Amino acid sequence: MPEGDTLHRLAARLSPKLLGQTVVQARNRAQGELDVIAGATVENVAALGKNLLIDLSGGWSLRVHLGIGGKCDTYPRGQPWRRSSRTATLVLETQAHEVVFFKAPQTKLVRTAHLRATPALVKLGPDLLGRTIDYDAIRERARQPGNAGRALGEVLLDQRIAAGIGNVYKSELLFLRRLHPWAPLSSIDDEQLHGLFKLARELMKKNMRTRWRTTRFLPGDRHWVYGRTGRACFRCRSRVESGRQGEQARNTYFCPRCQARPATETGRD
Ligand SMILES: [Zn+2]
Repeated sequence: MPEGDTLHRLAARLSPKLLGQTVVQARNRAQGELDVIAGATVENVAALGKNLLIDLSGGWSLRVHLGIGGKCDTYPRGQPWRRSSRTATLVLETQAHEVVFFKAPQTKLVRTAHLRATPALVKLGPDLLGRTIDYDAIRERARQPGNAGRALGEVLLDQRIAAGIGNVYKSELLFLRRLHPWAPLSSIDDEQLHGLFKLARELMKKNMRTRWRTTRFLPGDRHWVYGRTGRACFRCRSRVESGRQGEQARNTYFCPRCQARPATETGRD
């Protein structure tokens, strides 16, 4: 599942192939042939939270969101693809390459000026993989009225608070900080909150340089709890548990012993 680091890695992978190149042809599923950018030059490729932004000369940008199952391949122009063309949602051809996005739910060509005012992007919190990061801004966004009673697992996934954390990091961060996924945000202080996002940035940065996303950096499993329901916790040997959380009912994994629920909390059993 693509997370913030996936998009940064993708931007880093695509940049050398696309920057300064001329678009020969482009098409996407929603808008068809994108004739208006034929002949345009690729000026910038960047990740912003979970979006990939490709800026082109002439004031156009492609905004790509990979969703849950989106993939991106690059091929020498004219070579057969490794995936079904029926699942291609955006094809960008340069003189030398074809960049193909498969199953990416959003691949929109928009005016660059409008893009910068897109509600979903404007609302995004600080990018955890940005060159610099403003933890105070994250804290302010997290401590907005209405968030106090929200479960930590949901707060971490809320891209309006900080952009980049996906479902894997969510479970792993809470395990590493020994916090229960259903504990309300109000149960942790600002120092703990800062610690969570600081660790998120550190892990994501480290993963920019690894072949596979890992949060353990040890032999064996790549993750402490993610995807390990029913197996022994690496720390205490209790069985890892999981449950569905939030509006999107995303799977959350945790160790019931290492991540004890705060005594004051009531609600989910
Ligand atoms: Zn444990």
